[in-house]
Amino acid sequence: MKKDYDVDVLIVGYGAAGANAAIAAHDAGARVLIAEKLDVGGGNSAVCAGAMVIPESIEAAIAYYRALSSGTVGEEMVRAFAEAMVGIPDLLSRLGLEFTAGPPIPPSFPSMMSGRLKQIHIDPTGENGFRFLDGHIKDRKIEILTDTQVKTLIQNPETREILGAKAQRNGQDIQLLARKGVILTCGGYAYNRAMLANFNFPGATDYIFSWGSPGNTGDGISLASEAGAALWHMAAIEWGRFCAREPSKKFGTAIGYGLGRTKRAGSYMFVNKFGERFMAEDALLSHCKEQLEILRYDHGNAEYRNLPAYMIFDQTYLSRGPIAPTAQMLRTKRGGIVGYCLVNKIYDWSADNQAEIDEGWVLQAKTIAGLANKIGAKTDVLEKTITQFNRACIEQCDSLFGRNEKTLAPLDTPPYFAVELGLSLVNTQGGPKRNVNCQVLDHNDRVIPRLYAAGELGSFFGFLYQVGSNYPEAWAFGQIAGKMAATETPLSE
Ligand SMILES: Cc1cc2nc3c(=O)[nH]c(=O)nc-3n(C[C@H](O)[C@H](O)[C@H](O)COP(=O)(O)OP(=O)(O)OC[C@H]3O[C@@H](n4cnc5c(N)ncnc54)[C@H](O)[C@@H]3O)c2cc1C
Repeated sequence: MKKDYDVDVLIVGYGAAGANAAIAAHDAGARVLIAEKLDVGGGNSAVCAGAMVIPESIEAAIAYYRALSSGTVGEEMVRAFAEAMVGIPDLLSRLGLEFTAGPPIPPSFPSMMSGRLKQIHIDPTGENGFRFLDGHIKDRKIEILTDTQVKTLIQNPETREILGAKAQRNGQDIQLLARKGVILTCGGYAYNRAMLANFNFPGATDYIFSWGSPGNTGDGISLASEAGAALWHMAAIEWGRFCAREPSKKFGTAIGYGLGRTKRAGSYMFVNKFGERFMAEDALLSHCKEQLEILRYDHGNAEYRNLPAYMIFDQTYLSRGPIAPTAQMLRTKRGGIVGYCLVNKIYDWSADNQAEIDEGWVLQAKTIAGLANKIGAKTDVLEKTITQFNRACIEQCDSLFGRNEKTLAPLDTPPYFAVELGLSLVNTQGGPKRNVNCQVLDHNDRVIPRLYAAGELGSFFGFLYQVGSNYPEAWAFGQIAGKMAATETPLSE
């Protein structure tokens, strides 16, 4: 076999899972090579918030993760996951990473777990966490091939063993021989519209925008499928907050992530194309399902009833500052910036919203009728919606959707504004099914020899997700995959 590189362990994708796999495989004596599709590594890991939320004890963890998984993983995996998550502080200490332990927080699903969860923060965000891991990789002199997209795995058709991969590097085809194994740590499929349509929301993908790295195009799903892997957890997606659809389309990534969250109280509401409200606007909107109301499908009329949708507001709300969080706000309030758009300085919302008005991303009208015209709603419907809303503000009771009365303020100061909503996607969970050693399994639960996967590509989470779990999962299971791949008997010459 022609080989441009000859190593023991090939790692596909350089995020937290890939870096941890590389460290563990190297430290177990393997010669390691990392292939990263983009010009820099990091993936979602380098733009994430860096929160790691873990249970205090193994017993509590097992019961909680078993309940969250709702039968989407077996008992052995539940136990392994619990042990890995509870072991996170030890792993970080072993790697020499200083972290802050935040105050304990309630679980995302309190009915499934009594007590609180430990919260560890990689300070201030995942950007620093990735810099730290990158330092470990450089100290070990592990080679990283950037601009290198793995296109297909090389598999022995008889034994089904994975022997390496074919990749494209700066337009050139190269072959990478991996004598012990290949580890897929190439993230999710948030940027793959065909996969989003097929696995999740057909017909609505033009309204969904990733908050994460554009490298995550589902390559690992194609690579593993070609090698005979079973897929799991494809229905599970972590949804984020609303973003602004027009600029998100232009830049291809979520812009204005967190619309309506810089000021949770005030004279704004979300309406659908008819000019009707469809949800409580003060809902948490992160890792929750309330925002999925925007994707409610009306089978009778064969349409997404709430698409397109808009955030509408008045001059009072606009005057209070940016309607979407800016990098400066995140730096001062949270200590660091999060999300691909802001970390990579792609677009920063203006402090007075004027740039977005000038671009036409924020529509403006002197009257409600004018605004209705701009969003394509009937004037009488939008007027009725606003009248009802303003009455709810006076009565301090949103009987329609239950928005907290403290956040209600009437929309009554012209001019009026509308910004079209997109739905932000934090990360996907689906990918190749794997066992506790991170070995990829086929449809009969047989191991595909020498093929491993870790991280958000085929994550543990197939149904309910505990906030702050994907990032530590990438660290912990990257380590397991690296260690296990390094123990394989090398292919002979
Ligand atoms: C904005 C944001 C905030 C988040 N905040 C948190 C948080 O606070 N806590 C938490 O637990 N989780 C959080 N998450 C989720 C978490 O960050 C990710 O699930 C986790 O970091 C994924 O790590 P990974 O190594 O599996 O994938 P990634 O870090 O995404 O790395 C995958 C890498 O593979 C590369 N790649 C893809 N295809 C190929 C190919 N064919 N060949 C070579 N390379 C390829 C990609 O370019 C990418 O660099 C957040 C996610 C986002 C987007």
